[in-house]
Amino acid sequence: MVQDLTRPTASGNLPADLEAFWMPFTANRQFKSKPRLMVSAKDMHFTDADGRQILDATAGLWCVNAGHCRPKIIEAVSQQVATLDFAPTFQWGHPKAFELAERLVKWLPDGEYSHVFFGNSGSEAVESALKIAIAYHRIRGEGTRQRLIGRERGYHGVNFGGISVGGIAPVRKFFGSLLTGVDHLPHTHNLEHQAFSKGQPDWGAHLADDLERLVALHDASNIAAVIVEPIAGSTGVLIPPKGYLQRLREICDKYGILLIFDEVITGFGRLGSAFAAEHFGVMPDLITVAKGITNGTVPMGAVFVRKGIYDAFMHGPDNAIELFHGYTYSGHPVACAAALATLDTYEEEGLFQRTKELSDYWQEAVHSLRDRPHVIDVRNLGLVAGIELESIPGKPTARAFECFLKAFDKGMMIRTTGDIIALSPPLIIEKSHIDQIVEILSDVLGEID
Ligand code: PMP
Repeated sequence: MVQDLTRPTASGNLPADLEAFWMPFTANRQFKSKPRLMVSAKDMHFTDADGRQILDATAGLWCVNAGHCRPKIIEAVSQQVATLDFAPTFQWGHPKAFELAERLVKWLPDGEYSHVFFGNSGSEAVESALKIAIAYHRIRGEGTRQRLIGRERGYHGVNFGGISVGGIAPVRKFFGSLLTGVDHLPHTHNLEHQAFSKGQPDWGAHLADDLERLVALHDASNIAAVIVEPIAGSTGVLIPPKGYLQRLREICDKYGILLIFDEVITGFGRLGSAFAAEHFGVMPDLITVAKGITNGTVPMGAVFVRKGIYDAFMHGPDNAIELFHGYTYSGHPVACAAALATLDTYEEEGLFQRTKELSDYWQEAVHSLRDRPHVIDVRNLGLVAGIELESIPGKPTARAFECFLKAFDKGMMIRTTGDIIALSPPLIIEKSHIDQIVEILSDVLGEID
């Protein structure tokens, strides 16, 4: 059956079996006329419906950090499904959720984060974090602290809170007035001052001071939280300038504003530490994660909270539900089993250390593309890179998308956003794969208009 779906029928019509699925984040009409279907995966590669090996230069969607179809995770999921397929969340629990939370908090510096709240995706983790932040102020008698501050070019998933604090026009513009009481800091990306930076750019820490302007405008007593991605991924790998996150932390501390790091893509080793917070040496009050928590195998998201936040909620009446929030599948047994096996895999294989060891090689490899046609910036950190192309006037995404299609024809999956190619391979990558990624991209850049 699979073969029937790979190409349009001889008459040029779509195979009927492609029609019913309304694909997310996809140009449906374009895709369905020439589908790209993956049917299996192993380690660094997918196999497509034509039986071709496709090198995964994006870890799926920034999630398959340990590579695809890892035996330990498969085994844990299979066993869990057969043992306890579901446990209700409402006034019930199951041991693996407790075990996982205990294990996760130990992955951050000593005692900094005491508790973990589970959901099923990055978007849900973000909604949970925003709600916890607002409710936290309220239960402490500071109920006027309701405003939320995000950032231009921030991406925090697709639910209403996330698109409100997010700063990407196409993600917001069709969906009405969104949350009220939201402001945005400027993004930190500036090619005039930062082009071809290796690692963190030197220029841009002062942009954090815009938070002072918002405090002056609204008064700190009305502001609940600031949310940023340490590295903005979905808008093209924007690496934070040196000192920028530290400045945000200082200003938040000064005014009692909670700082939330959205680590949905930076969590679980992408920069060589378990979390970007550790890498940058800046501890936020809440951290959202997803994707790499289960190696992408089963949906799961989570929020880490600092001890004081959880404690504040525990000071109410003894028999009351302290936070009326959660999901049917919060801490789902199968997701917990997948996550525990994923953590084992990261640890046993030393994958975060491996990221550290490979990051210099990665840096030099991606920067070797700087003189290829159309390239106006290359940026990188850990095992992430962004390659920005000069746009064709009036067609701001066309060039990178052409690269995407040509790379697929040559057997490689990349991700593009605007005219930026974003690379984030599985952390099991070998130097030979890095060479292959660069070689294919170099060819592709030479072929496009
Ligand atoms: N936050 C960030 C920083 C993300 O990169 C993403 C997904 N790319 C999300 C939130 C949303 O995650 P999900 O798609 O799992 O809802």
